[in-house]
Amino acid sequence: MWTAITLSAAAMTAIVALRYLASSGFFALVTNRVRPGYHAKLGAQIRRELSWSLASAAIYGVPAGVVAWGWKEHGWTRIYTDWQAYPLWYLPVAPLLFLFAHDTWFYWTHRVMHRPRWFRAMHAVHHASRPPTAWAAMSFHPWEALTGAIVIPALVFLIPIHVAMLGVVLMVMTVMGVTNHMGWEMFPRTLVHSRLGSWLITASHHQRHHEEYKCNYGLYFRFWDRLCRTDRGLSPNA
Ligand SMILES: [Zn+2]
Ligand SMILES: [Zn+2]
Repeated sequence: MWTAITLSAAAMTAIVALRYLASSGFFALVTNRVRPGYHAKLGAQIRRELSWSLASAAIYGVPAGVVAWGWKEHGWTRIYTDWQAYPLWYLPVAPLLFLFAHDTWFYWTHRVMHRPRWFRAMHAVHHASRPPTAWAAMSFHPWEALTGAIVIPALVFLIPIHVAMLGVVLMVMTVMGVTNHMGWEMFPRTLVHSRLGSWLITASHHQRHHEEYKCNYGLYFRFWDRLCRTDRGLSPNA
């Protein structure tokens, strides 16, 4: 049993690490095209972002690997594969529930991590990227990585989700984690400045968090930032 769990954890760690290298590598390449020179003089910082992110891959991989093993071997979790198991309308609702729950957890833990003592212990690593790059997507101190790593493995026990929709959640999580740090806005202005856009977090919103620290704490949605008056709008620099 322990061999199977260890193998599953190792496989997940490898998948998370490769997913990071592929997604951050891709958007770093695009950045070189769209913002030539953005990475100039950031070589040492990018090497640190890479090492912290690869360490985070193991911290994300282990709980994910254990839960994946339990799902396969013992039917743990509420992940389902039969399309008929829940009404069709529920398919797109589940990822929204996941994203909102993740966003809520992130917002409040993030605010705690901006208290001075917590900041030094857990969150300074992430803010050492000035300005952040696509490689900073998983650049977290191990304690901070742990707070992020438990979210999805815990939610799959609480909220039923089709395995394909879980894939959608992981894709949104990956793409937004990378693109929110790459220093420029890839979404069209018409979306970012629309009514819908005023509730969503993209690069120009998170860039402002990295510039001013005490605002824009959310992950996917601006709901909590707006409710708690911590939303300062978009950065003019992204
Ligand atoms: Zn960040
Ligand atoms: Zn922060």
